[in-house]
Amino acid sequence: MKIGAPKELAKGEARVALTPESALQLQKLGHDCFIEAGAGALAGFDDHAYRDAGVSVVEGAESLWQAVDTVIKVREPSDDETQHLREGQTLISFFWPAQNEALLEKCKAQGATVVAMDMVPRISRAQKMDALSSMANIAGYRSVIEAGNNFGRFFTGQVTAAGKVPPAKVLVIGAGVAGLAAIGTATSLGAVVRAFDVRPEVAEQIESMGAEFLFLDFDENQDGAETGGYAAPSSPEFREKQLACFREQAPDVDIVITTALIPGKPAPKLWLEDMVEAMKPGSVIIDLAAEKGGNCDLTKPDERVVSDNGVIVIGYTDFPSRMATQASLLYANNIRHMLTDLTPEKDGQIVHDMEDDVIRGATVTHQGDITFPPPPPKVK
Ligand code: NAD
Repeated sequence: MKIGAPKELAKGEARVALTPESALQLQKLGHDCFIEAGAGALAGFDDHAYRDAGVSVVEGAESLWQAVDTVIKVREPSDDETQHLREGQTLISFFWPAQNEALLEKCKAQGATVVAMDMVPRISRAQKMDALSSMANIAGYRSVIEAGNNFGRFFTGQVTAAGKVPPAKVLVIGAGVAGLAAIGTATSLGAVVRAFDVRPEVAEQIESMGAEFLFLDFDENQDGAETGGYAAPSSPEFREKQLACFREQAPDVDIVITTALIPGKPAPKLWLEDMVEAMKPGSVIIDLAAEKGGNCDLTKPDERVVSDNGVIVIGYTDFPSRMATQASLLYANNIRHMLTDLTPEKDGQIVHDMEDDVIRGATVTHQGDITFPPPPPKVK
């Protein structure tokens, strides 16, 4: 099959879905690879590198969409891009089907098969294709780097001839993939790190990274925790306890990184205005949930705002794109693994097996039908 990546059109998007390295792997599966000229430039991959890896470089998006059977992308397609889709063609990209009903209808009408990378089930067998996790991991790391860039002090404590420097105190709220990456990065830079999550089972992981887990004085099983690795909304009583804990932390911590997410719901508001007011001037809040409405009252998506008392609140939604080379390498690998499963005989022929839990879970349109939402996965 012919597989190709166009240049991403979304403003500020620097990632690319095909790298020279992933192209070599795709060719071993029997596929021919194509790239739109310049598509990898912002991620550090020039057209020569693709040509050296045996990729055909095509001028212009339209030619690329026409040349290939499978289009691989980072962002969901724009209206214009959707027009290029044709019957029998496959698109593999982030898609967010629950928020993009009209787009889903259009892709169905074009007769295309769409594999949504954000719908890959979070089960062990699919970890290698779990692009949400690979991107959240980058976002968690980058959130700490961004915090450091805005914070006027060291992370680590120092005793120097010029004076004693205390370590920065970092609070991470939500210890899923992004939160754990942020905890690991902040502890490795020498900060004193505390973390909170409604799922108490993450306490051990947090503590093994050298951070302190903030336990709430509540029932044995902290409310809001649920099986399946995801959180459920908290009860009002639990929420009050949680907010009281954060109020106590606010005047003491220098950096707050919020990553709290409940799938399919707006981000819970956890760092309220009065907590920002209680923080020291020069403190930094990085709100990774900005795109879903933000965990902090003051967050503005894609903006850096400074509160009246001098606290910097960052709501960038493009952290993975700010590390475009690394993000592209990992994302292109996630896609390559998806295509490996879609090419079982390694003979360049795609077999779209709707009996396969992972392929079924991620497929949102197929053979003229909308196949979203999928049935719950059989395999854990
Ligand atoms: P995840 O599901 O792995 O982790 C979310 C964590 O939040 C879970 O551990 C959950 O238990 C916890 N949580 C839920 N409600 C909570 C509450 N009330 N208090 C404390 N913890 C709570 O998700 P993830 O993959 O780590 O992503 C985290 C966030 O980062 C998401 O909102 C995601 O969209 C965002 N993200 C942002 C960027 C960016 O560029 N800004 C990039 C990637 C991901």
